Amino acid sequence: MTPFTYEGFAGHVTFGRGAVARLGEVMERQGVHRALLLSTPHQADQARETTHGIRDGIVGIFAEAAMHTPVHITARGEVVLRECGADCVIALGGGSTIGLGKALAVRTGVRHIAIPTTYAGSEMTPILGETQNGRKTTRRSLAIQPNAVIYDVDLTLGLPAVISGTSGINAIAHAVEGLYARDTNPVMQLIAQEGIRALAVALPRIVADGADVGPREQALYGAWLCGMVLGAVGMALHHKLCHTLGGDFDLPHADTHAIVLPHAVAYNAAAIPEAMAMLRKALGRNDPARALYDLANDVGAPRSLSSIGMPKEGIAIAAGHAVENAYWNPRAIEHDAIHDLIARAWAGDAPKEDHE
Ligand code: NAD
Repeated sequence: MTPFTYEGFAGHVTFGRGAVARLGEVMERQGVHRALLLSTPHQADQARETTHGIRDGIVGIFAEAAMHTPVHITARGEVVLRECGADCVIALGGGSTIGLGKALAVRTGVRHIAIPTTYAGSEMTPILGETQNGRKTTRRSLAIQPNAVIYDVDLTLGLPAVISGTSGINAIAHAVEGLYARDTNPVMQLIAQEGIRALAVALPRIVADGADVGPREQALYGAWLCGMVLGAVGMALHHKLCHTLGGDFDLPHADTHAIVLPHAVAYNAAAIPEAMAMLRKALGRNDPARALYDLANDVGAPRSLSSIGMPKEGIAIAAGHAVENAYWNPRAIEHDAIHDLIARAWAGDAPKEDHE
């Protein structure tokens, strides 16, 4: 067995249908009594209704959370937080709202209770990405990780089917790369396999019927596990490539992940035999790259980078950028093979393992 280090997780997790009814108890446990409620404009009503039971503990609402945590919005939120004298933030929503919760908590030292309503997994990570003047910076610190998380399955029932599917595959991508991360460990590999299994079974069922509670429960459980993996170990080719593609061509985040993941797995396959065996087990298929390609199709994700707006001449540009900055990956980053990977993803072809 490869030697490893493992760091346990801080943070308190409450999971289940109607779990948000225990918000008062969770606040009590955190020793806080005056919450600033955070959401996107779109989820402001849901945030208010959901926290109605503890309305005396809510001293303000700031419903301006936006994608990629813009610093000027955080600054406005900080003014509101100080004016209302809050001793904690409650972030109800997806990765955007939880990002705002992290940004406020790390600036002011207040406690952070996250109530996720998507499968992105930010609530389980000590990572914060912020944007200023169009530039994104990312930092990592234990002070960024939310202190408590409430997973209430009922809050996810209204998440639209296609967003459920692509954000679920985004979560799977975190766990897949966690299986072969340079700093992986046996505990994270167990968690990653279970997260992938739960989501792969649940997502097509959610797309068939978004109000079916059983698969929603499995998906949220899987999202929790995959988020733990993202928070604990480093990522590799798949994430770097999605970052490059997203930055170069302004492509939608979750769709890009769903398209690239099968190809990234195929690229690395020969270099990661143990992780491939784990993936076979988790997905219940002998051909994990193809299984992930089929899963993306089953949940209605776009098949090709061309269909989400990447121009054909972008293949060569992205291949050039992908090999420019050195980063760790189980297989060396080879220009021609990366070019071939991106070309297949652009066209929507099935993934091809090099040793096939
Ligand atoms: P999101 O938070 O941007 O939400 C997308 C939209 O869906 C929003 O309008 C939101 O209000 C709405 N929505 C969310 N849940 C809903 C529900 N249950 N029903 C109806 N509408 C709902 O999307 P996301 O994919 O959760 O998060 C993406 C962001 O999170 C990106 O900025 C990404 O970089 C970040 N992220 C960060 C980390 C991290 O560890 N720091 C991890 C994953 C994602």
